[in-house]
Amino acid sequence: MTHVLHRKLGKTPPTVVHAEGLWLRDSEGRTYLDAVSGGAAVSAIGHGDPRVQAAIDAQLARVDFAHNSFFTNEPAEALADHLAERAPGGLSRVLYCSGGSEAMEAALKLARQIWIERGRPEKRTIIAREQSYHGGTLGALSIGGNKPRSMPFRPMLFDTRFIEPCYAYRYRHDGESEADYGARAAAALERMIQKEEADTVAAFVCEPVVGATLGCAPAAAGYLKRIREICDHHDILLIFDEVMCGAGRTGYTFACEEDAATPDILAMAKGLGGGYQPIGALLVHDRLVDTIVSGSGALLQGFTYMAHPVACAAALRVQQIMVEDGLLERVRDKGELLRRRLEATFGQHPHVGDIRGRGLFLGMELVEDRSTKAPFDPRLGIAARLKAVAMDEGLMVYPSGGTVDGTNGDHVLLAPAYTVSDEEIDEIVVRLSRSLNRTLAEAVRP
Ligand code: PMP
Repeated sequence: MTHVLHRKLGKTPPTVVHAEGLWLRDSEGRTYLDAVSGGAAVSAIGHGDPRVQAAIDAQLARVDFAHNSFFTNEPAEALADHLAERAPGGLSRVLYCSGGSEAMEAALKLARQIWIERGRPEKRTIIAREQSYHGGTLGALSIGGNKPRSMPFRPMLFDTRFIEPCYAYRYRHDGESEADYGARAAAALERMIQKEEADTVAAFVCEPVVGATLGCAPAAAGYLKRIREICDHHDILLIFDEVMCGAGRTGYTFACEEDAATPDILAMAKGLGGGYQPIGALLVHDRLVDTIVSGSGALLQGFTYMAHPVACAAALRVQQIMVEDGLLERVRDKGELLRRRLEATFGQHPHVGDIRGRGLFLGMELVEDRSTKAPFDPRLGIAARLKAVAMDEGLMVYPSGGTVDGTNGDHVLLAPAYTVSDEEIDEIVVRLSRSLNRTLAEAVRP
């Protein structure tokens, strides 16, 4: 027994003692190929980069901590400049926090504050999407459409309206073009706004590429642009959750660049600090900040570790390395290679229904029957078993289970570091293939 609580009680995971590049080693000397950036799409530039360690050391030697309501600090300012220079039009102000859930909490509170400042306090409903995940705190869980994650807490959560996700594999009609599907999926927002009355709706929130709950389901062409138009037309704020898909993961600093759609508030975390420090951020549109400046003049937000100097110094160095080493181009390039390898190996696999995603953010949906798309019985726990078998094969992947109502199947998500080599890509696919076949042999044909 250890005193540390892990998710699976009674089963202590291996102890990691070394991490370098895409490889981790445990205390027993076993090695693991990290195909999912530390397990949660975090370690974007790989593990153990001495340049980030040097930046952290240097910052610790200068200033460890001073609260953001007393001082600003140099790395916080430099990181905000770096992000604002690259952000889509108008998203030039940055609010820091310690991770994705905090970022989403802050986004919800900010949306609420904006409507109060604009004299429209009745605008308070949030519209989100089914089968989504925005964090584990109560506010973030309230807008999460993934039922298994939120159900036990429902009585403690605020009411949210949910529309269907943009999830081509299960929702696009046969013969429907991607653009037509994108427009049809976006129309669900219009219908929900009509039903709720726009005067009561504060914001719509979605992930440009759904990660944890749908195994990398990207927005269809034109979907987010149409969503933006609908929000503008009804005076509703648009929040993009790029906690998992942002910070270069899709081959762009911000995933929404590819969709040519700009939100009012954009949340990031994970790849921002690349795992070297816990950090999250909201990029906030100038318009929103102007509203507050000409109103109460004070943000109704406050976390102790906002703009933590060491976290900001680490994240700044991680973001600089992405630029210096040309990692975004590399993500696009290696993402294509990984996708081709997955298609070659699993394209005809009887239990792989779909291979999808963007950049180095790729997912496969695992199904009982490829032709009918029937998911596996969720009680088989295919995704969780695959994670365990893959660990045994020395491979880290991110599983996500199917839902009981059959609206989606099990997925496996791959999100290796942007530094992944061609040889590592081949090895990921070989180990994944072995792990999947072993999992299916054990679970389906015992
Ligand atoms: N939003 C999304 C899209 C996420 O994937 C996650 C984490 N998986 C979160 C929010 C919550 O982030 P954190 O776990 O850092 O609080």
